[in-house]
Amino acid sequence: QGGAQSPMARQSEIPGVAAVIAVASGKGGVGKSTTALNLALGLRDLGLKVGLLDADIYGPSVPRLTGLHEKPELNDERKMIPLKRFGLAIMSIGFLVEEETAMIWRGPMVMSAVTQMLRDVVWGQLDVLVVDMPPGTGDAQLTLAQNVPLKGAVIVSTPQDLSLIDARRGLAMFKKVNVPVLGIVENMSYFQCPQCGTKSDIFGHGGARHEAEKLGVPFLGEIPLHMAIRATSDAGTPVVDSEPDGPHAAIYRAIAGQVR
Ligand code: ADP
Repeated sequence: QGGAQSPMARQSEIPGVAAVIAVASGKGGVGKSTTALNLALGLRDLGLKVGLLDADIYGPSVPRLTGLHEKPELNDERKMIPLKRFGLAIMSIGFLVEEETAMIWRGPMVMSAVTQMLRDVVWGQLDVLVVDMPPGTGDAQLTLAQNVPLKGAVIVSTPQDLSLIDARRGLAMFKKVNVPVLGIVENMSYFQCPQCGTKSDIFGHGGARHEAEKLGVPFLGEIPLHMAIRATSDAGTPVVDSEPDGPHAAIYRAIAGQVR
């Protein structure tokens, strides 16, 4: 009604999906995808039905993080059936094209691919769909944020200044499109030696907490830089699933409890 040209007018619910949470970061390499997957598993552990959409078109890492590589099947209406693992419904552009193909896509193609993965996938009944956003705060991110009615965004940052500046930009972006920021997660917050357990603040520690306080958004938690998180990610056996009684799973579940 009216304003059909405005981007907000294109927003519509995804059938069966009660809430969509975006996981975003100002730049790549801060652990956004690792956090998105483990957060999804944390939400699962709280008893929710959870889906994960890897919309990180420029570098889809969910196939590696989950060990899933098969192509999704189509139903009678030619809609894609998400893959299932760890009790999650999972979809990634990486299931459809070679990684190198996705890398060279331009804006409009990226957007139509993301829209398809949101709309042309039989997500089924989900309490929450976690969307692993592309890194950065450009047009693709903005359009995505405008295209789906988001419950909110979780911003992942490392403690370093540069990364925090980028997180601030992400915050501004979501504010601009009226998406509530559910909070900031500090990833690689401190180094925890796998042998002796000693903590060292390699990148300086507590920056994100301080920043969140300054910006008036919730601080959701600190995830250590730990070998187990990296190793389980690389093996396609995410830490929340493979080490459910470990300290890392507890951290991700605590974060999940705040954004559910
Ligand atoms: P992004 O999605 O931001 O590009 P990834 O989630 O792909 O980042 O993580 C980048 C790399 O850092 C991966 O090799 C991942 O295993 C590793 N990593 C992410 N978070 C942690 C952590 N808390 N501890 C150890 N390694 C991590």
